[in-house]
Amino acid sequence: MTGSIDGMHTGTPGARGFVYGFSDDPGAADVLALCGGKGSGLMRMRGLGLPVPEGFVITTETCVSYIQTREMPEGLMDEVGENLRRVEEATGCGFGDPGNPLLVSVRSGAAVSMPGMMDTVLNLGLNSETARGLAERTGDERFARDCHRRFIQAFGEIVLKVPGHLFEEAIEAMKGERGVEADTELTSGDLEELRVGFEEIVVREAGTVVPEDPRGQLELAIGAVFDSWLGERAVAYRREYGIPDDLGTAVTVQRMVFGNMGDTSATGVAFTRNPATGEQGLFGEFLLNAQGEDVVAGIRTPRPLPEMEEVLPGAYRQFLETAERLEREYGDMQDMEFTIERDRLYMLQTRSGKRTGAAALKIARDMAADGLISQAEAVLRVEAGSLDGLLHPRIDPEAHLEVLARGLPASPGAATGSIVLTAGEAKERAEAGEAVLLLRRETNPDDVDGMISARGVLTALGGMTSHAAVVARGMGKPAVTGCNALKIDTSRGVVHLGGETFEVGDVLTVDGASGAVIRGDVPLVAPEPSEDFETVLRWADETRALGVRANADTPEDARRARELGAGGIGLCRTEHMFMEGERLRIMREMILSEGDEALAEALTKLEPMQVEDFEGILRAMDGLPVTVRLLDPPLHEFLPDSKDLAKVIAGREGRGEDAGEQRRQLRVAESLEERNPMLGLRGVRLGLLRPEVYLMQARAIARAARTVREEGRDPRVEIMIPLVAFASELRKMRTMIEAELAGEEIPVGTMIELPRACAVADKIAAEADFFSFGTNDLTQMVCGVSRDDAEEKFLAGYLNEGTLSFNPFQTIDRDGVGEFVKMAVDKGREANRGLKLGVCGEHGGDPKSVAFFHEAGLDYVSCSPFRVPGARLAAAHAALRQST
Ligand code: PEP
Ligand code: MG
Repeated sequence: MTGSIDGMHTGTPGARGFVYGFSDDPGAADVLALCGGKGSGLMRMRGLGLPVPEGFVITTETCVSYIQTREMPEGLMDEVGENLRRVEEATGCGFGDPGNPLLVSVRSGAAVSMPGMMDTVLNLGLNSETARGLAERTGDERFARDCHRRFIQAFGEIVLKVPGHLFEEAIEAMKGERGVEADTELTSGDLEELRVGFEEIVVREAGTVVPEDPRGQLELAIGAVFDSWLGERAVAYRREYGIPDDLGTAVTVQRMVFGNMGDTSATGVAFTRNPATGEQGLFGEFLLNAQGEDVVAGIRTPRPLPEMEEVLPGAYRQFLETAERLEREYGDMQDMEFTIERDRLYMLQTRSGKRTGAAALKIARDMAADGLISQAEAVLRVEAGSLDGLLHPRIDPEAHLEVLARGLPASPGAATGSIVLTAGEAKERAEAGEAVLLLRRETNPDDVDGMISARGVLTALGGMTSHAAVVARGMGKPAVTGCNALKIDTSRGVVHLGGETFEVGDVLTVDGASGAVIRGDVPLVAPEPSEDFETVLRWADETRALGVRANADTPEDARRARELGAGGIGLCRTEHMFMEGERLRIMREMILSEGDEALAEALTKLEPMQVEDFEGILRAMDGLPVTVRLLDPPLHEFLPDSKDLAKVIAGREGRGEDAGEQRRQLRVAESLEERNPMLGLRGVRLGLLRPEVYLMQARAIARAARTVREEGRDPRVEIMIPLVAFASELRKMRTMIEAELAGEEIPVGTMIELPRACAVADKIAAEADFFSFGTNDLTQMVCGVSRDDAEEKFLAGYLNEGTLSFNPFQTIDRDGVGEFVKMAVDKGREANRGLKLGVCGEHGGDPKSVAFFHEAGLDYVSCSPFRVPGARLAAAHAALRQST
């Protein structure tokens, strides 16, 4: 069967290529893109001769076509029918045949793994007759009824949109009535009663019934799985991970095998290595007498995989061998799902597993050491973004902790926050600036939004592979799951934990590394990089062409940046140095001073402080470049608010006191106020109009460099002028500065952060030793979008509604801002061959943007210290991808 990957199917009658059987040869097609992770994994396993139940895949392109036209492409169901017939032939079962019914699972699976974000319907093909047939055929009435009630529940929820909790509550109510703890203790009669109850719920809520005709069921289920690509949680997940909206999901339709056929049957999930730590050896969980969603939904707490050896030894051994083989075949850690039906193993999924940053590093390093992959491949295996999670704080080992309870250490890192019990509440409070912890009985995909907002997650149920654990690890968020001591009463807004009651808003800490739940706020320490981290990053450093510097304004930040591998400072913003207590007062004094004498006096006080600042930073960055940017913000930012001043004046005068000095201050403050301060008297403009501050800074930089050199060190300071639009501005400013340097040879360069500067970059380059792109301002100016409030005012809406697929203040806008960068690079280099080029806007730490800066031929990126390792890795990825 052939599948078109070039064009979209138009639904023309007779068009083929919507469906691939698991054993079909996909030819030259990109199987992963077309059949998704699940589909392509099943096809590959089948090709390896592994036990995979028969089935077929509906392509991602078909989904895209359905989403565009809102109709099933013509001919799709014919192809589905044809493939069903092949499954029937291979199995000897009949779809809808009560004598030997074929049941299928209908599952989603995109090319990029989105665990649990889309929908699945199991046991499809059941109706009153086939359910009876299944009971007779298997000789197990209870099992057949269990499948039937599960099918009504899943179809009701996924296809007919009946709220899932209604079914769960019905199960809980029945367990309560019967006085049993587990679903498996319900009798055949109970399950039949449940199924009838479920059908009533469906009629009441959806105003319709679950169709009896299996083909009708299948068509509706396929449509529902397609629709789940557009579901809220899938969209939220794609936003979070920058996954494009136009990929679509594939749908796999596969013969059901049953893990719920009694105690010789089971279902489980497993990783070939530990996804949290990367440790070698199979890691997973299973449940006897259960179906797949029972494990991942965290409804029953599953058992660790090694225990399977005792209860199902043959299948366990076979699974071990299969897992090892799959890891070798893929050359990567695998995330597998399996079912054992009456002692027979079936593989239902294999794909490269999601992992924490720590695990990614360990697995990459171990696999390279074992010769399974190359060093370059090892570097590519670690996502740049995943290092953030590693650099998250952990609990101070010296701290006194009041551990209230323990659960499973599901996702590492520690987080403190106020308790919230719903995803909505998490979002609301986090948006208001509060650090929150999301506490749930178990999470399901509807909680993803809340998990994104929360600092950490704590659940009462669920194992290491539960939804909460998998999603939190993917997000790099601390999570503790399966904390049995936690009892949540959402309606009263309270939780019981270790014999105590807490309310929404009370503060707890979770330690995702140990599983501890701790009272209150706890001191945290910055993590130390591991040996795996050092090794893989060393390999990355050997590969990359881009330099990575840090944005750091204090000696302490500079030291941390250096520890994290920064090759210098790309941006030392000097403004914060003027904002602190005593200095702010002096700065104010200076700005408000109207005579030269007062001004000189204020500068004399500030200069030694600046010298000390620069000395500290130059010492910390001994031997490495340090770009110091002269003062950038508008002057009025240093002044008291004019409304506050007006109030003081009114107060003084009301009391008959003299307010002359305050009136004078108000006059100066008002004279400095601007309608558009971002476009006003800041950067080099201020430097030219009131040169005293810049010249004082230049002197302080030169003095600091001299002192540090005299100490026997190697200071490599550079002076950077902000907000240059005209070459003449830089020429004039540079001349004035150089006159202050007292013979110190210090390179002088400029920020490139205005569109005009890009357009005349050749002229500016003639005056500059280096350019550093200020992509924060450049994005603001090129897009005409305020960097201060656009994100909360309308960009969020743009992102939610899909008008934009990325936030241009986070990821460089290649088409717009990127073109300005490229123009300035070309013009700048042409005019000045020795020109050094860097970027110091926020984009310097964003992996996708780093790839762009590599392609644009910059010399270095500069970002906040904690983003340095990720940028080093992203720079190596860019170099490796370009060379392949
Ligand atoms: C920039 O504009 O990108 C930049 C680095 O400067 P700042 O953010 O300080 O304006
Ligand atoms: Mg700027």
